[in-house]
Amino acid sequence: MKGQFVLRNVKRVNNEKKIDIVIRDGKIAEVTKAGSGRGYVLDHSGVYVSSGWIDLHVHAFPHFDPYGDEIDEIGVKQGVTTIVDAGSCGADRIADIGASRNRAKTNMFAFLNISRIGLKRVDELSNIEWIDKEKVVRAVNEYRDVIVGLKARISKSVVCDSGIEPLHIARSLSSKTSLPLMVHIGSGPPNIEEVIPLLENKDVLTHYLNGKENNLFNGHGKPLKVFTDAIERGVHLDVGHGTASFSFKVAEAAKQHCIGLDTISTDIYRGNRINGPVYSMANVLSKFLYLGYSLEDVIEAVTINAASWLEKPELGRIKVGDVANLTLFTVKGGPTTLVDSEGEKRVAERRIETKGVVVNGEFFEC
Ligand code: ZN
Ligand code: ZN
Repeated sequence: MKGQFVLRNVKRVNNEKKIDIVIRDGKIAEVTKAGSGRGYVLDHSGVYVSSGWIDLHVHAFPHFDPYGDEIDEIGVKQGVTTIVDAGSCGADRIADIGASRNRAKTNMFAFLNISRIGLKRVDELSNIEWIDKEKVVRAVNEYRDVIVGLKARISKSVVCDSGIEPLHIARSLSSKTSLPLMVHIGSGPPNIEEVIPLLENKDVLTHYLNGKENNLFNGHGKPLKVFTDAIERGVHLDVGHGTASFSFKVAEAAKQHCIGLDTISTDIYRGNRINGPVYSMANVLSKFLYLGYSLEDVIEAVTINAASWLEKPELGRIKVGDVANLTLFTVKGGPTTLVDSEGEKRVAERRIETKGVVVNGEFFEC
């Protein structure tokens, strides 16, 4: 559906009053009283509407295995209007991801992997020679409109014998390019106490709720000092659920210790989309509702919080005159079993289901 149409009888998460949203020429033309918007009517009585969901950590380069997928499979078909590829590509293939972005419906940005080979191999930082600093700087200059940060995966199976060295190089590339880092954490070495102090304000710490041995909480579920210090410095916390990086026990400890919720992202790719435990953005969001976060907090974590990290406030609001990027969803009652990356189960009383998206003014059911 393109042209002029009305999303009729929808409501915002912070206000039960129904409204109409009129879309014209790709933009939000009017936000008005329910029943009064003019144009082709798409009646979504009682359905929630938010600005389009943003997934800050996905793998959207289909040519790589296992960490790859088709852009629209993990974007608009999931109710997500904007995805950020988390370093699938390094400088060698960033041009290809730039080109596929132009063919997709979903809006896309990318973190550039500091390893020029990207996720062509899953030990992309095991050989320091694969970090070609000049090539990184050149790629950033050429693809400024796509690249929003640099990605470094700092865990044992990725860095092997390189230890913490790739993170020091990433840090220097960050200052050379004036781009923040997204740092993936996981099993050590390097030890987490050695990794976290190198993160600065605006850097993204992804997989912060992982349940591996080298995680951010001590044996009693208390956040480590390096972690709370990093939060104080303004390090951004990103879920990056993935196949192996989200633990209910850790998430419960984080909630108990009032660790803030910045962005909820999926780390989705073919394998964990089809076989779980990710499946979809809605499924991941349902886990946070289960944890006791309010619907408003959960939706903010994929709208306003993500948009403000991206420094694109227009992606996180519903405002007349803006390009129309919206997500429609419901909260359904009834028991649902949710599974984390450790295979641990929880039974939730509610789950989020997507109904449709408007991406750059075009409507799709989902
Ligand atoms: Zn990762
Ligand atoms: Zn990832």
